[in-house]
Formats: sequence, structure tokens, C-alpha cells
Amino acid sequence: MRRDRHAKIVATVGPASASPEMLRALFLAGVDTFRLNFSHGLQEDHARVHAAIRALEREVGRPIAILQDLQGPKIRVGTVAGGRLDVAPGETVRFVLEGSEGGKDAIPLHHPEIFAAVVPGQELLIDDGRVRVRVAGLTADSIEAEVVIGGVISNRKGVNLPGTLLDLSPLTAKDRADLAFGLDLGVDWVALSFVQKPADLIEARGLIGDRAGIMTKIEKPQALERIDDIIRLSDAVMVARGDLGVEIPHEDVPGRQKELIRACRLAVKPVVVATQMLDSMVSAPTPTRAEASDVATAIYDGADAVMLSAESATGRFPVETVSMMDRIIRRTEAHKLYRSLIAASEPGEEETPPHAVATATADLADAVGASAIVAYTLSGTTAARIARKRPCVPILALTPDIGTSRRLSLLWGTHSVRADEVGTYEEMVTNAVAHAVEEGFAAPAGLVVITAGIPFAVAGTTNNIRIAAV
Ligand code: PGA
Ligand code: MN
Repeated sequence: MRRDRHAKIVATVGPASASPEMLRALFLAGVDTFRLNFSHGLQEDHARVHAAIRALEREVGRPIAILQDLQGPKIRVGTVAGGRLDVAPGETVRFVLEGSEGGKDAIPLHHPEIFAAVVPGQELLIDDGRVRVRVAGLTADSIEAEVVIGGVISNRKGVNLPGTLLDLSPLTAKDRADLAFGLDLGVDWVALSFVQKPADLIEARGLIGDRAGIMTKIEKPQALERIDDIIRLSDAVMVARGDLGVEIPHEDVPGRQKELIRACRLAVKPVVVATQMLDSMVSAPTPTRAEASDVATAIYDGADAVMLSAESATGRFPVETVSMMDRIIRRTEAHKLYRSLIAASEPGEEETPPHAVATATADLADAVGASAIVAYTLSGTTAARIARKRPCVPILALTPDIGTSRRLSLLWGTHSVRADEVGTYEEMVTNAVAHAVEEGFAAPAGLVVITAGIPFAVAGTTNNIRIAAV
């Protein structure tokens, strides 16, 4: 089976979608990659979902990517007296490093790195920025702050510190345990939360190696300052607009989304736009007009994938939401302005032979009106380089590596298939045509454009283009 669109759908699994029946329904409705959110749920719950997705993969005969999203160093207040504190603008509150069940003058905040890093004048944002306080004074174990925007501080609410580079590893003890668990399960992608600096990725790579692709969630302004190095060290990127929209002003998020998508396309890294895309469908069978427009905008921006969070994890209408997302993507990609908008955001050429071959492959396929581009790829990079051109023609990625075939289900315009390696040039051609026909990409008398590296089975050698008749 093949999808009738280029951009991909990532859906978060949760209580509303964890059963094998729901996972199947969501896949059939259009999900290409399932996200396991390790901020919630027990390891054994995630293991069950993982097994159900692998069983589904066997049933449908298509590679499906599983993305493990690690919680990361999310900062929270502790428990407060009575479970909630009402704070008003102008009031003074105090956060303390030690203690529990505090009142307004002793709100527990068990994060020493904050006490080490903040300076007077900086703001702490509580509960996704609903409450804002400004640091007035501090000691080694207490922070006095003035309330700027009042509201309720209740137990375990999240705290964001936009202006502060915290001395934190992106991987907490829980993350390390979850990561080891996920890698043993065999997840395809690992998403890192609250990445602040390039060194965070080097640290993560040391633990992950090539056992999974690393997807960096961009949700801190500090990460934006060093974005080129961060993208270079990542295998994929998520525009994590939930926390990003707390840490930077709302009005800056859309422009950052466009910048990040373009930078990722230039760097040949898949990019996912995430959070609140169809949020009202958590409780309603249809989205708002603005949400439909938000999904379409990510598609016009050239994102590889768009993501659902609560909509599919805990919402009332997971399948309807995926179907809606699928329809919006298909209609957007078919719109008469889509091609010109995508072309306008095309980054400049990178002058290396593999790039030139990939670009020529995409151009040639479009020029001859091929039914498919068949790319032989070991690591997936050849397919990604072709996808970067955003050709009209679908890309059929043939890889002997099951992990690569799964990871590629995140990549724009790419239908991946695990296929045995070929030994000769003639075999490469017949095999490519056979797969194109079998997967529903090519009809008799059609053309396919094939690209591969010769000698075979050596990564990074893509140097050959062949037009073949079906
Ligand atoms: P989260 O990440 O859902 O894990 O917080 C996504 C985001 O912040 O947008
Ligand atoms: Mn987040």
C-alpha cells in the first residue's frame, strides 16, 4: 500500500490509542510514525505498544517508525500547601531548594542548577507561562521573586526559564534508564527534549551511537543561538512549539518555524512540526479554521512531517484527527500554489558530487514525467538528498537495512521498502522496476529513474542515474 501524499504524519500514542485495534485504525487513516511519549506512562506500557506496532508492521507489510520521546530535564515546582497557591501581581513569593508542602514564602523547587544560574531580573514562567515571576534576590538555597502575571501555582507545575542557560545534561537519570529500555526494544528514533547546546548532542550520541536516529526538539532559545551546529549533529529536528512558545514570544514562533524548516532542508535533515496542530479535536470532531490553516502552513513551508500530540494520545477523536490531517495535507499538496511556494523556499545547492547526482535525479524524474524515482540507499542519505529537492515524482527508497527503511517513514515524499542488495547493474535495473510495479508506483509503458552507488554496498558512493522503461 502507498500513501497519496508527500508529507508524513507522526501521531503520539496514549491511553486513547494504545490498543492494537486503534493502532491499526490510525495507521490505515495515515500515521507513518508513532511517537511514544516517555513523559507519561510506564516502560511496560510503552513496550506493549512497541510490540503491537511491530505486529502491525508485519500484518500490513510496511515499515513503520517508532519514535521514543524522552522527557528531558523538565523543571517543576514541588508540592504546595493545599495543592494550589493563588498569587497576585506585585506580590512577593519565595522558592526554596529544600522542603516540601510550602506556602507562598517556601515554594519547593528541587533544582539546584536553577539556584546556580539565575540572576535578579530574570523571569520564571510557571504552568506554560500562565504565571510569571521576576527574580528580585537570591541566596544559595532561596529565590525571592515578584509576581508579574498572577494566577494559580499548583503541584508539580512546569517551570520555564527562557533567558537562562542551565548547567543541565539533556538526559536525566530517568531519561538514561528510558533510553536504555527503548534502545533494547529497538526504537527507530529518539527525541531529545530541551536541548540547549551542541555538546548535548555529542553526549547523547555517545549513548545512542547508530542504534537509533537522534531527533532534536527545538524548544529553548539557547538552542536557536547555535542552531546550525545543533542541526548538523542531529539526524532530524522537531519544531517543538509547545515549550518553544513558552520560552519565546508567540509572535516569534511562526517565523522560527519557517527558519528551522529551511535550515533543516539545507542540511538534509527531516523536520517535524509539532504541537497543537489540531488541538481542538481533542474534544471535537472537527478542527478550527485556524488549525486547518496551521497544518497547511507547515506543508507549504516544506516540513517533512506534522505531528499530533494530545489529539491522538488522549483525545476523543484520534482516527478522525489523523484523517483530517491526511486530507489537509493532500489538499494542500494538490493546490496550484503549492509547487511555487515549495520552490521558493528551496535552499541553494551544495556543491558535492552526491548532492549533484541527487538533484539531477530529481530534476530528471520531473522532466521525463517518471512514475517513480527508485533510490538504492544504505543509510537513507541518498533518499534524503533527493527528497530535499521536493520532486513531484514519488521516491521509492530500497534499502537492505530494516532500520533505515523504518526511519525513512519520516522523510518527505519517500516510500521505503526493505529489499535485498543487488549484485550487478542489470539486476539493479530489473529489481528497481519490479519493486516500482509491485508497490503500485509504475504502470506498463511508464518510466522510472533509478539512482545508486556503484560499486554496490558501499555507503556514500551514489554516482549513477539510469532511466528505465517499465
Ligand atoms: P512535549 O514536546 O510535548 O514533550 O512537551 C513538544 C513541545 O514542547 O512542543
Ligand atoms: Mn516540550
